[in-house]
Amino acid sequence: MEYEAVIGLEIHVQLKTRSKVFAGVATGFGEPPNELIDPTVLALPGALPVLNRESVEKSIKFGLMIDAKIPKICRWSRKNYFYPDSPKNYQITQLEKEAVVGAGAVEIELPGPARNIMGEHKFVRINHAHLEEDVGKLTHEGAVSLVDYNRAGTTLLEIVTEPDMHSAEEAVALLNALRMILATAGISDCDMEKGQLRCDANVSVRPKGSSELRTRTEMKNVNSLAGVRNCINFEIKRQVRTYESGEQVVQETRGWNADTGHTYSMRSKENAHDYRYFPDPDLMPVKIDDEWLARLKKDLPERPFDRQRRYMETLNLPYSTTSVFVPNRELCEYFESALAAYDKNPSLLANLVANEVLREISSGKHAFDNCPIPPKNLAELVKITDEGVISKQLAKDVFAEMWASGKSAAAIVAEKGLAQNFDSGELEKIVAEIVANPKNADAVAAFKGGSERVINVLKGQVMKASKGKANPAKVDEILRRLLA
Ligand code: ADP
Ligand code: MG
Repeated sequence: MEYEAVIGLEIHVQLKTRSKVFAGVATGFGEPPNELIDPTVLALPGALPVLNRESVEKSIKFGLMIDAKIPKICRWSRKNYFYPDSPKNYQITQLEKEAVVGAGAVEIELPGPARNIMGEHKFVRINHAHLEEDVGKLTHEGAVSLVDYNRAGTTLLEIVTEPDMHSAEEAVALLNALRMILATAGISDCDMEKGQLRCDANVSVRPKGSSELRTRTEMKNVNSLAGVRNCINFEIKRQVRTYESGEQVVQETRGWNADTGHTYSMRSKENAHDYRYFPDPDLMPVKIDDEWLARLKKDLPERPFDRQRRYMETLNLPYSTTSVFVPNRELCEYFESALAAYDKNPSLLANLVANEVLREISSGKHAFDNCPIPPKNLAELVKITDEGVISKQLAKDVFAEMWASGKSAAAIVAEKGLAQNFDSGELEKIVAEIVANPKNADAVAAFKGGSERVINVLKGQVMKASKGKANPAKVDEILRRLLA
């Protein structure tokens, strides 16, 4: 029998807020243990939670980015359980039906047949997304356990998908799409190595063609894309084997061991009523009015896939180039400001941004805020290249010089005498010498015999003889004239 996998994800995203969700103390990563704490985080007697507006605004922004229903009001509940990573004995969270973000959908892209070919796009439905607080971190050292509450109380948005995915690839594609949206809108940095995005994967299998939802297992807190892919693939195989041997899959929470590549049984699944949820009496419901929504809508960025389609359709840029910079909003905005200054050659501009600018930025020495080449200077480099003042080859060298010195392209070209400053007479002499050179007799004969491409051999020699300063279009014109 053939089986089909059914996958739903619950994704915990740490929102990029300066302070914690219910306390004025700062968020952070890597500080010495227990520095980012205050009476509320520690649940000392008398301390009361105060909601961070930024947490709600960033959540609503996420909802707007995925066309989700935003409720008029959202509420807070207590989820009760004891575990030493949380000093309160309960977690402040939201019930599904009272969550800040309702049903929506995320566009995903599956891997294409090759890196430079666009893959299939589809939508994964989001059931809802709710706000809650992160917990502290436990470290076990022999018989002793240590606890660090720095992370406790950091804003988490839990995004719950419908069981719409059917392969590990689709699950990974969803995570990638979410990361693009969250980063683009400044909602979360989604750095998985810092635990800013963690994923619970729910997996079941069913006979192919059926639409039933069979018993599922849940793998908790998988914190890398490779982990998500591998644990889902492992779990699909394990469940198929279970059914094939006539047994039943048991509903349970399973762990993922990245070292062995296996999932293992942790505990039978707990039920919602075990947590004795009740409304949190310390926190008022939050009203979300139209005015607030309209204000948040106003400074929402374009969705990454929409932006990519726009670049491909209206600017004729190739898929491969746009895929490089579309995930990076700053790079896109940089490209668009340069394009506004000079819009005649989007393709050269995009190449410079996707290759040169991105490489320099990723080298980490310059953030965008103090980028040594303002967009209008990059536009000028493209313009003088288009005008034939310098060749495309030289454009890259001039770029490097601009980056190092902060000077404009024109200034560097003038200073270094880089302009293609051959007068026609001088260039004509070089071309004539190349054509007359006995070593090129075969190439010349081949061109005259109709082999069009051979002209590139001769062109290459002229460019070399002119040390890259000749204007390729002029060389072409003179060559053809002399060969005719
Ligand atoms: P719970 O009550 O345990 O929170 P939910 O119904 O809220 O369960 O679903 C939690 C996650 O599990 C969702 O992402 C959902 O899409 C997924 N899920 C639910 N049923 C299945 C199933 N049969 N197979 C795979 N995933 C499932
Ligand atoms: Mg649920």
